[in-house]
Amino acid sequence: MNTILLNDQFIDREQSSVNIEDRGYQFGDGVYEVIRIYSGKMFTGKEHITRLFESAEKIQLTLPFTEDELTENLYKLVEKNKLDTGIIYLQVTRGVSPRQHQFPLDGKAVFTAYTKEVARPEAQMNEGVTAIVADDVRWLRCDIKSLNLLGNLLAKQEAFSQGSFEAILHRDGTVTEGSSSNVFIIKNNTLYTHPATNLILNGITRREILRLCPGIGLEVKEESFTLDELYEADEVFVASTTAEIMPVIKVGAKAVGSSKPGEWSKKLQETFKASIQEQCGELVRSEV
Ligand SMILES: *Cc1c(COP(=O)(O)O)cnc(C)c1O
Repeated sequence: MNTILLNDQFIDREQSSVNIEDRGYQFGDGVYEVIRIYSGKMFTGKEHITRLFESAEKIQLTLPFTEDELTENLYKLVEKNKLDTGIIYLQVTRGVSPRQHQFPLDGKAVFTAYTKEVARPEAQMNEGVTAIVADDVRWLRCDIKSLNLLGNLLAKQEAFSQGSFEAILHRDGTVTEGSSSNVFIIKNNTLYTHPATNLILNGITRREILRLCPGIGLEVKEESFTLDELYEADEVFVASTTAEIMPVIKVGAKAVGSSKPGEWSKKLQETFKASIQEQCGELVRSEV
C-alpha cells in the first residue's frame, strides 16, 4: 500500500520528498484530480484524466506523457497497492526553479500520484448531512482544478467548525457550488444546478448525474438558483467523487423538506450505484 508514482517512476512512499523550490509547494502552481477506485477499477477514469489535461492546458502547463500512458501507469499503481475501494490523488506542478512569479523557461512538470483506501460514505449517504452557506470569495477561474484552494479551505473549515459536512457557496445570493462539491436542488420534479461556467468546477460526478436523470424521468435545468430557492427546495444534495450523491437535510438553521433524504435523491443514488457497478463490477466490499 506504499508505492507512489513520481513522473513515470514507481517509488516507495518513504523514499519520496518535496523540493522546497517546487512551484506547487511555493505558489500552488499546478492542477490535480481525485479518481475513485471501486473493486480495483477506475470509475470515470477517462473523464478525470481528460480534465487533468484540460486544467493543465488552461494554465499553460505541458504534461510529459499522453493520456494513455498516464492511464496505464495509474492502473499499475492501483495494482501495486492492491487497492479495492479508495481513491487515486494525482497532481502536477510546474516543477522546480528559483522562486519568481513568471514561468521558468526550462521548467519541467513534476507529476505525483498516490492511492488511499476510502470507503463509500454509506451512513452519511443514507441519513443525509448538514450544510452551511458561505460567501464565494474565490477567483474567477473556478473551472480549473487548481492546487490553490485557500478560498475552498476557509469555507470548508467554517462548515467543519459548525459541525457541518459542506459549505454551499454563493456570489451575491446566487449559489455556485460547494467548497469541494457541486450543489443540486430539486423543486417540483426538476433538478437545478449551476451551469458549467468559469464560476464552478464542472464535476465528473455532476456530469454523470446529468447523464442519468433522463433515465429516471427527472427533468434537468442547468440554471443557477438563489439562496432563497435553495432554502425553499424540495430536496438538496451535493456531489463529488468521494462523497458521491450526498443528501443535504439542513442548510444553516433551515430544514430541507422533511429533514430526510428525498425520493429523487435516493433514486439518483441507486442509479448512480448501478452505473458504478456497470463500469467497475459488483461492489462486494462495502466497508474498507
Ligand atoms: C473536484 C471538485 C468538485 C467535484 O468534482 P468531481 O469531479 O465530481 O469530483 C466540485 N467542486 C470543486 C471546487 C472541486 O474541486
